[in-house]
Order: sequence, then C-alpha cells, then structure tokens
Amino acid sequence: MSDKPELVVAIDGPSGAGKSSTARGVACRMGMAFLDTGAMYRAISWACQTDGIDPNDQAALLVRAETADLQVGVDPQHPTVVLDGHDITREIRRPEVSANVSTVAVIPQVRQLLTAQMRQTIVSCRRIVVEGRDITTVVWPQAAVRVLLIADSEIRIARRAAEVRGRPGHGEVRGSIVDRDRKDATVSQFEIPAPGVELIDSTLLDLGQVIDQVIALVPEKLR
Ligand code: C5P
Repeated sequence: MSDKPELVVAIDGPSGAGKSSTARGVACRMGMAFLDTGAMYRAISWACQTDGIDPNDQAALLVRAETADLQVGVDPQHPTVVLDGHDITREIRRPEVSANVSTVAVIPQVRQLLTAQMRQTIVSCRRIVVEGRDITTVVWPQAAVRVLLIADSEIRIARRAAEVRGRPGHGEVRGSIVDRDRKDATVSQFEIPAPGVELIDSTLLDLGQVIDQVIALVPEKLR
C-alpha cells in the first residue's frame, strides 16, 4: 500500500460550523471517501459511558480505548460507526455523548491512538475528505487542501439546536456547545487558521456555497 494518498481535503472547525455536511457534500460531489474523526472520539466516549467507567479515571478510559475494535465506514452517503461489532452510528449522536466526549478527547494517549487509526484510514483511501479539530495541524498537515471552517457562535448554536433530536431548550444547546469548544480548545487549535490553512466563514453562506468554496481550492489536476 502506498503511504501517499492522491488527494486529502482536511477540514477543521468548532462544533456547529457545518464541517460534517460540508465534508460529506465535497466527498459526494468529488467521488471521494469521507472520514468523520469526531465520530471516532464519540465512539470511545460512548463505550466508556456504556461500561460505566468513572470519567475521572483516565487510566481506565485509556484501557477501554486501547481495547476497542473501532470500524468507521468511509462512504459519504452512508457513514457508519461500529464498535466491538455493534453499530452505534446513531447512539454516538445522543446529547449525553456530546456532553462527555471531551473527557476522553483531552487524554493525550487517546489522541495518539485515534490519530494513528485516522492516518491508516487516510492511507488506505486514495482520495478522502477528513473533518475534525486537528486534521490540518496534527493528523494530516500535508493535505493538498486545508480548511478552517468557522461560523458566528449564534449561528452554530441555532444550527445545532435544529439538529438535536428531542429538541432541548436553546440554553442547553448553547451551554453544551460553549462548554465543549472551551474544553476542546485546550488540546487543539481550531479557532485561528494555522499557516497555509484557508479560512472559510460559513455564517452568511448556504451549504452549497461552502461546498463550492472548498472544491474551488482543489488543484485543477486533482479534480
Ligand atoms: O465533530 P464532533 O462534534 O462530532 O466531535 C466530537 C468531539 O470529538 C469534539 O467535541 C472533540 O472533543 C473531539 N474531536 C477531537 N479531535 C478531532 C475531532 C473531534 O478532539 N479531530
């Protein structure tokens, strides 16, 4: 297997900026694979919560991450997450997973483990769109296209509120987004673009316009 994929599009940003929809849209239009790295952290968090592991016991959280058999499907039309043989694609979107995922994501050894798995997936796909918090800076800084996707926080909160099943109050979504971004920012830098990373502000754009802007950054010979 070559260790140099043909085209990697890396998209980072805070929660609710539209990374997943954008990344899936780009992948579908360009016939590429799609990797949602947040889903990987969510899967480990879900496993730890399901097993009743104390969130303060970092050693136990790490052991659970190390023993997890995590399979992430890269079809942008039908992304799947399977952990230890169970399809948890829907479960990992539950509010209690969102509220606790940063607890595992801030553990450096968990990040190393998942980063290695992300790199293996990237290498095994020739053309892939990868989205997360640290793809442009840590996981695959050599990507041909590197984007930081941001949006005004009020817009991000409104988008997430519309998305969340069970429709919790606006205040709850606001609290969880603000709190999660604050914790995530302690381990990844996704508020200011690193050198060479293109900034796209989706506040006043619709999804189609954001997808167009990302595709416009792909060098002609790689389209
Ligand atoms: O993107 P999403 O909101 O699903 O990510 C869930 C969580 O996974 C983030 O809040 C963050 O804690 C973690 N994450 C990360 N690094 C990434 C992707 C996600 O730490 N590359």
